[in-house]
Amino acid sequence: MEKTEVVVIGAGIAGATMAYHLTRSGCSDVLVLEREESPGYHATGRSAAVFTRLTDDDVFVRLSVLSAPFFQSPPEGFSEVPLLRPNGTLMVAQGPRLKLLRAAAALARRVGIESNVLSSDEAVEKVPALQRRFLDGGVFFPADGLLDVHAILWGYLGAARRAGARLRVNSEVTAIRVEGGRVAAVETRDGPVQCRWVVNAAGAWANRVAAMAGARPLPLTPCRRHIVVVRPATPLAVDDWPLTTDQSRNFYFRPESGAILVSPMDQDPMEPCDASTDELRVAQAADLLTRFAPAIAPGRIVNKWAGLRTIAADRAPVVGEDPAVKGFFWLAGQAGHGINTSPALGRIAAELLLKGTTTALDPALIHPARFSRGRLSLGLIAARRVWFLARWLARGSSDSLV
Ligand SMILES: Cc1cc2nc3c(=O)[nH]c(=O)nc-3n(C[C@H](O)[C@H](O)[C@H](O)COP(=O)(O)OP(=O)(O)OC[C@H]3O[C@@H](n4cnc5c(N)ncnc54)[C@H](O)[C@@H]3O)c2cc1C
Repeated sequence: MEKTEVVVIGAGIAGATMAYHLTRSGCSDVLVLEREESPGYHATGRSAAVFTRLTDDDVFVRLSVLSAPFFQSPPEGFSEVPLLRPNGTLMVAQGPRLKLLRAAAALARRVGIESNVLSSDEAVEKVPALQRRFLDGGVFFPADGLLDVHAILWGYLGAARRAGARLRVNSEVTAIRVEGGRVAAVETRDGPVQCRWVVNAAGAWANRVAAMAGARPLPLTPCRRHIVVVRPATPLAVDDWPLTTDQSRNFYFRPESGAILVSPMDQDPMEPCDASTDELRVAQAADLLTRFAPAIAPGRIVNKWAGLRTIAADRAPVVGEDPAVKGFFWLAGQAGHGINTSPALGRIAAELLLKGTTTALDPALIHPARFSRGRLSLGLIAARRVWFLARWLARGSSDSLV
């Protein structure tokens, strides 16, 4: 029977960064199994490809801050093209939302996320498509930007392969064998593969894969989100514009090769699937531009797609060994931040798998066991998160928090 130390299920960004960081940490006996014909076919290949550090979840903020240096200055030989185009992020809002946004930005500055507070005039100067009457002001994050997801994904996979890892596509894992409470092998159409570890990097299918190992399902919900690419009726020089998010109306847009990529930031729960578009959501995206940024109102829709963002009940990612099935390791629930946070999340996941600990954050905040002990456990985790955030704010942007 074929044998390997670690089987990684899924060649999206999660499986790719895991393989990369395992091999960099000296574990090169890694086999990545991907059901589809090519890596990145699902969520990873359908993202908006933006790098924003200020999000609604402090764990993801931490992971994004830790990930920034990797994108800004990747290791020698990782990619021939830049991974990050620093166009920045402009967040605009009205009324109480603007107050909240500015308060969050002030806190974020304490952990190294630089930003400039903008008046409505200054925001419109940056993105002339915005309408002054729909915003009271904004905050600009100059070090954010647009990611080259293809280069990042293939950078991880290429480096992992050069270090000895193997990638097999068209190779669905159909069963997981557990012996004496520990994973022993996975079944594929090409036969079984004996292994000591199985990494569940199956994205929206994470609970289906867990069921194969007899692990308890976790509160993870795949939610569909749409992206529409439009060519404005009147040509405009948009390439240097930042990602612009309207916090009061919940939509964002950014330049995409001379056109505009827009998302209505929808979040419809779904069963895991090859997500297809819903014309109502596509129309909603076009309508948001027409109403709130008419200068870039669509002349023509040139592309549209939908993908699944998999979100945990407490919105933090799920990383760590299953509490009941030894050797079954979760790397799931990256929500809308899986690309953004992949350098740090991959490093932390590899550390947890190989050493059982990490210094980057409190591992309990992301461990799958946080869901298995009921409300009390979730309450304790919430308190630990507050404590973690307070310590981080007090210390600033240091790499280690332990
Ligand atoms: C519209 C949209 C916009 C987004 N924008 C951003 C953004 O701007 N920035 C950001 O950081 N993130 C963004 N995200 C989120 C990001 O795309 C995800 O967090 C990330 O791609 C998740 O990666 P993954 O590897 O876990 O999942 P996936 O990319 O879905 O990979 C999982 C893989 O597992 C495989 N698989 C499943 N079951 C099996 C099996 N039994 N055997 C073998 N293989 C299996 C699947 O085929 C799949 O390829 C966005 C997502 C969407 C949908």
